[in-house]
Amino acid sequence: MMKLTVWGGAGEHGRSAYLLSGERVSLLLDCGVKKGGADPYPRIQPDQVRQLDAVLLSHAHEDHSVAIPLLYKSGYRGEVWTTRETAAQCRSYFASWREQTERMNINLPYGMKDQEAIRYRYLEETAPRLTWFELLPGVEAMWGRSGHMLGSVWFLVRTEGKRVFYSGDYTSESLLLADDRPALSDKPSSAMDLAIIDAAYGTDVTSQADQLKHLEQTIDSTLQSGGKILLPVPAVGRGQEMMLWASRRWGNVPIVVEAPLMEGMKQLLSRSEWLRSTANCEQTVRDQPGLALRANKWIIPGNDTEREALLHQYEASLWMVTDGMMQSRLAQWYYRRLAEDPRNLILLTGHMAKGTFGHRLLQQPSLFGHCSVLKVRYKVHQGMKDVLQMLACVPAKHVVLVHADRTETDRLRDLLLKELKDERSRIYSISAGEEVHF
Ligand SMILES: [Zn+2]
Ligand SMILES: [Zn+2]
Repeated sequence: MMKLTVWGGAGEHGRSAYLLSGERVSLLLDCGVKKGGADPYPRIQPDQVRQLDAVLLSHAHEDHSVAIPLLYKSGYRGEVWTTRETAAQCRSYFASWREQTERMNINLPYGMKDQEAIRYRYLEETAPRLTWFELLPGVEAMWGRSGHMLGSVWFLVRTEGKRVFYSGDYTSESLLLADDRPALSDKPSSAMDLAIIDAAYGTDVTSQADQLKHLEQTIDSTLQSGGKILLPVPAVGRGQEMMLWASRRWGNVPIVVEAPLMEGMKQLLSRSEWLRSTANCEQTVRDQPGLALRANKWIIPGNDTEREALLHQYEASLWMVTDGMMQSRLAQWYYRRLAEDPRNLILLTGHMAKGTFGHRLLQQPSLFGHCSVLKVRYKVHQGMKDVLQMLACVPAKHVVLVHADRTETDRLRDLLLKELKDERSRIYSISAGEEVHF
């Protein structure tokens, strides 16, 4: 018998941390934080931390990675298994969390030395993707690309006679990033014992193609009225996809991009092993970032003076800035300059945690200024159709839906139960602190 204990991430968006414990083995999948909430850290149990044999990290986003130093503070001395890309990106996510907490006068519950104590172990250097390897005596694992961001992966784990699948944050609809179908990697006929599955978009059934159409129409109508569009996005992830998509769609419109996004694009360019090899247009996707770079499509301001000059120079134009929830100084700086003109649009495309500037702005835009504020999702997670597709590839006896609030997860579970009509699998909508025995 094994047990899953949710320390965070189910029934909520943020602080993903899933403890798998058996008779001999204890593994932790991710350990992140929750932005904007009163309870930002996972429910780490220090006595359990000392028993941990390994930590598996799916990707660098703060809701999966930033509470890892807390484990070391609580006595963990083991390794964190992840990709080289993820480990490299984690440094900037740790730094930005540190900066945000300092700005809000909140104490970090761990020190720099806990962060420096992290011992990474690189997946790519241990085994190629879609191949079983021995993670520890008695624990075998496999990883594959999850299409969510550079370096993001899913995991399969075999231990104590059980098989567990953790999707991490997953999408099969990225324009740039490749994903590996987990079904190709294990006998599809035999069900997993447990699957922890990204269901961040809950019952939403819209496809990426539909979302892109919606985004296009929204941007077109602002451009036609001579307005500027501010697109706040995370430094790594959908930002680069949207840069490429926008440069293809609006060839003659100025697109101003902040430097960290450009850095992210260069990073992508040099990591072709994470990119799709073919696309639905004639060129391969691998060539497109290179082509766009050569064409100098993006305008990159170096300081506030240059930004002011560009704002003055361009009317109908696109502006891409970090971060996605508008917590950064720069996102709010741009907002102040665009807010007074009703032709302008702040276009939010991802999750807005309560308490963040993006969330407050979306709730009551008129409190802050006269420009429009809209949210149109750019998909980097799974909705209901994607979850169904995943369950067809990776059937499981116990399915835990994660990454969405509890009400939405309840709704999704009910719909899935009707849709699946499969009495062998149990589907769970649960919250932090709850357990599943399997
Ligand atoms: Zn993520
Ligand atoms: Zn996430």
